[in-house]
Amino acid sequence: MSEIDLLKRDSSHLIHPLHAPSAHLSGKVWDSGEGSFLQDVDGNRFIDGLSGLWNNTAGNGRVELAEAAATQMKKMGYASGYIGSTNLPAIELAERLAAITYPNINHFYFTSGGGESTDSNIKLARYYWKLKGKPEKTKIISRIWGYHGVTLAAMCATGISAYWPMFEPRIPGFSHIPSPYPYRYKSNDVSKSQGIAAAEELEKQILAEGPETVAMFLAEPVQGAGGVIVPQDDYFRRVREICDEYEVLLVSDEVITGFGRTGKMFGLEHWDVQPDLIQFAKAITSGYFPLGGIGLSDEIASVMNSSKSPWMHAYTYSSHPVGCAVALSMLDIIEKEDFVGQAEKKGSRLLTKLKDALHDHSHVGDIRGLGMMCAVEYVEDRKTKEAFDVSANIGAQINKKAIERGLFSRVRGDNYFIAPPIVTSETTIDDIVDILAASTKDILG
Ligand code: PMP
Repeated sequence: MSEIDLLKRDSSHLIHPLHAPSAHLSGKVWDSGEGSFLQDVDGNRFIDGLSGLWNNTAGNGRVELAEAAATQMKKMGYASGYIGSTNLPAIELAERLAAITYPNINHFYFTSGGGESTDSNIKLARYYWKLKGKPEKTKIISRIWGYHGVTLAAMCATGISAYWPMFEPRIPGFSHIPSPYPYRYKSNDVSKSQGIAAAEELEKQILAEGPETVAMFLAEPVQGAGGVIVPQDDYFRRVREICDEYEVLLVSDEVITGFGRTGKMFGLEHWDVQPDLIQFAKAITSGYFPLGGIGLSDEIASVMNSSKSPWMHAYTYSSHPVGCAVALSMLDIIEKEDFVGQAEKKGSRLLTKLKDALHDHSHVGDIRGLGMMCAVEYVEDRKTKEAFDVSANIGAQINKKAIERGLFSRVRGDNYFIAPPIVTSETTIDDIVDILAASTKDILG
């Protein structure tokens, strides 16, 4: 059956994530993949410019991951992880994560993905403060352009407002501060660096809410879906100080940045900052199995472990033996193939080449990235940074041209994202840049 016929069948019964029927007949029916390439049912090959959804760092066709899943499925497909129950892959995975995450993060709870991990951390932060005798500390502060998932609580933490209106009212107790967005954030206080000023937006918000009511601050080390926004170098250190001063838990959302993507194993390592809680998903299984989780500091775990009130929070698929077995195999790949080193080296090539190819274009406002996650932001006017009118759909048009030329990725408005698998070859990285430059020229001259 051809792609167009399958798309017609699809639209009769299938509801998509981000369901937008008018776009579905121009969608893709994916059929197979190899390394950093995807193939549709008509046999057309595309570079997987976003590693699926930022997750497939090891690329398609990794037999090790398939075998890890099959071996575990044959031995024991499922068993509950509730209360006292556990299984060998989950025990081993928690041990290995303790060795590779931040030194203070040594305790792990597993979920099925990113949004469940956000909810788990929100509930854990509230639980922790109740155990500490501060039950009024319940509020969550996060950032504009932050993406943390779309379960109801995660949606409220997500700071991309397009996700809200059709699902309101939102849960009370969530607020958002400006993103540090170096290209666009501007503080009028010239006595401080922009990074410090952006971090102090958090202090202002904590004071406005009342420090005794704030449970946690949730932030991605590099904001991903909001635009690949890399903060200023002094931003997170000041955030850490502010969180310490007002007893607010610092929660690092490593769903995209975890497991090597930015050229460090976890994102805040770039700035020598340790969070109180982390959350991860995606690349822990390279997307081959839906697994996520949270990591707790020793302090939080010790309070939890001495509590007489059980944490009444659980998913059927927490500690899924198959997911944990796939993750263990993925950690072998990450370590043996030096994903951290590869992402650093290849990411720096990608960013340099993007700058060489696009920097002089009169509608390219910003080219940014860290490791293997980059974005190009198109603007109407480079001098004033004025954005294109939304109705011009510049980002979508460039994306369409890139797809025609064999590069498949995503945009947010006029920000084009490039985050291919870490295994992408240098030749393919150069092809990505060439395709994006040509597609930019197609639309913007
Ligand atoms: N946090 C971050 C930083 C993410 O990028 C995402 C997904 N893109 C999520 C949370 C939500 O993950 P999921 O889609 O698995 O619920």
